[in-house]
Amino acid sequence: MEERITMVHGSGGAATSELIDAIFAKEFASDTLDKMEDSAVVEGAGRIAVTTDSFVVTPVTFPGGDIGRLCICGTVNDLLMRGAKPKYITCGFILQEGLEVSKLKEIVHSMAECAKEAGVEIVAGDTKVVSGNGELFINTAGVGFVPKDREVSAERVCVTDTVIVSGNLGDHHAAILGTRMGIANHIQSDNAPLGEIVDALFQAQIDVHAMRDITRGGLATVLKELAKASHTTIELEEEKLPVTPQVKDFCGLLGLDPLYMGNEGKLVAIVPASQAEEAVLAIKSAKYGQDACIAGYVTDKEPGKLYLKTRIGGLRNLEVLQGEGLPRIC
Ligand code: MG
Repeated sequence: MEERITMVHGSGGAATSELIDAIFAKEFASDTLDKMEDSAVVEGAGRIAVTTDSFVVTPVTFPGGDIGRLCICGTVNDLLMRGAKPKYITCGFILQEGLEVSKLKEIVHSMAECAKEAGVEIVAGDTKVVSGNGELFINTAGVGFVPKDREVSAERVCVTDTVIVSGNLGDHHAAILGTRMGIANHIQSDNAPLGEIVDALFQAQIDVHAMRDITRGGLATVLKELAKASHTTIELEEEKLPVTPQVKDFCGLLGLDPLYMGNEGKLVAIVPASQAEEAVLAIKSAKYGQDACIAGYVTDKEPGKLYLKTRIGGLRNLEVLQGEGLPRIC
């Protein structure tokens, strides 16, 4: 096969078949996909969760991950946040002419590995080639099954609930920005599938009211949206927020606020106060959850508001992220 993607790889003819055989079919092989039909027919369940996402991150490989791993994590995590068990993924690749085939191979391999880790099957896919300068974009859809009687939704957030964060804030954002700016440090993206954490919570019989993965816009944006949707007040405690010393230094250097920086492998869970300690222990026992902690509380002070209790005892009103934080972070 040639070394770079050319327009002929998008022709739908022999070159497209060669591309599919050499790269996608090998990595994504499964009973469903190997049939090469126009659509996948799969087993279903009572209630299904459906999501879609597009990935345009630049650079496509970064410390701790790449666009292939990221697209699986982003998709399964959105399913998991509704209490669903992720089952199926579809992926549409938009390749620009000039993309190195070896780079594409590396990304597709990483995607297949991450799908295995997350326990999802890639059941359908598509490839298009457009002119450009060798960039790569991926669109996905995800399907998951929601167990009977499981209801995880912003509507269930209530006063007296506790806010739990599964780990350190800002890592993905700092890894991408640091790479783009050529700042030498050891910060790695946290891109990870959160299935083990979610399983651990339900196995411990925690009555999880709501969950969100902390992505673009950061923890503040996610919680402000939850406060608005549930007509409650959320109060975060600054001294409890987990941030690594490296990310703290990075933020200090560039004047960034970890509350508004994206992760790709962290979640915030809203649980009854009586189960909060138990929920933290459950998350800590799971892969990617070792730094979990209580970060704040839900109250009825001022519906729709998000506050940060600062270290010196002040109260800071937090809004959603204003303007563009960091373009093409995911
Ligand atoms: Mg989400």
